[in-house]
Amino acid sequence: MYVHVPFCARRCSYCNFAIAVRRHVPVDAYIDGIVREMDARYPVGETSWAVRTLYLGGGTPSALGPKGVARLLEVLQGRMVLDADAEVTLEANPEDVSDLATVAWRSAGINRVSIGAQSFDARALDWMHRGHSAERIREAVETARAAGFENVSLDLILALPASLGRSWAADLDEVLSLRSDHISLYGLTVEPGTPLARWIARGTAAEAPEEAYEGEYLAAHEVLTGAGYEHYEVSNYARPGYRACHNGAYWTGAPYAGLGPAAHGFDGEARRWNASSYTRWLELVSGGVDPIEGAERLTAENRMQERLYLELRTAGGTVLDGEEKELAGPWVEAGWARLCGDRLVLTATGWLRLDALAVALANARSR
Ligand code: SF4
Repeated sequence: MYVHVPFCARRCSYCNFAIAVRRHVPVDAYIDGIVREMDARYPVGETSWAVRTLYLGGGTPSALGPKGVARLLEVLQGRMVLDADAEVTLEANPEDVSDLATVAWRSAGINRVSIGAQSFDARALDWMHRGHSAERIREAVETARAAGFENVSLDLILALPASLGRSWAADLDEVLSLRSDHISLYGLTVEPGTPLARWIARGTAAEAPEEAYEGEYLAAHEVLTGAGYEHYEVSNYARPGYRACHNGAYWTGAPYAGLGPAAHGFDGEARRWNASSYTRWLELVSGGVDPIEGAERLTAENRMQERLYLELRTAGGTVLDGEEKELAGPWVEAGWARLCGDRLVLTATGWLRLDALAVALANARSR
């Protein structure tokens, strides 16, 4: 189960997510909307959903505050049965991580916190409009640990413009010194409509060259695997036993439900998504209408391609037949992949070519 909490205090310079910029978060109106969405989509009184992972993502779910997160979990648990050992994740902005909040989140049932760090470099944080300092990230991790969180994840962005002078090695050292259980690394991309896209169009910012992306991606692989982390998915690292179960479900094609603006759901055959604007979503659910805005039924071909792409993203890889092994032979020789029995598993240099390799293999599989 994914629940999208769309509020952010300000839009980060690179972000094109479905967010609602709000200085004051309308906590009760939003949670009432979630209740109405469940009422509109699922028969009232049905309490039999078995949920293995619950992920509060955003936006900034921590902006709901201690009481808001507790109330959101309460209304969700009124309609679902969480597995006893379910992974329950809250994405948090370092500014929202206080003693009071972390204790309340723990007692409400959150057992994993994913903190948006992005960098520990003051200039880079300012350029990204992050609104928090490096010191606040360190304090947030310590505060979460002190409240008893045993599963803390940090996000970092790689390939920032060279003009910022950010040291990637220093940022990797920081996440290691904080002993983060899980680390997600994403490359900076220029999305239309963002402040970053405008800066690039005006010539006041320049994208990092592809070689910088590759260099930082491979450096992270070396440093983090050297420190004992498993590079278990193209963008994700975990200490043994700390792989993200929720994201892992997406990568294996498991069905999931989504609530909140822009949330997606998938029943194994069709994908559906909600109206992305918070105002539109609230208007629909307040009128008793299911806020689904679109749907697509996947063909067998789509499912094969998607499954292959998702399998190649992970360290589990994909099973090859004899002809496919011939196709992948040169990839193994080039160091882009390993064959483990019948399984082809991409290496870090292979993950840099993920799209091209997935297309080549999918084309072979379609023939
Ligand atoms: S905090 Fe996350 S969702 Fe909000 S604006 Fe920044 S990147 Fe986007």
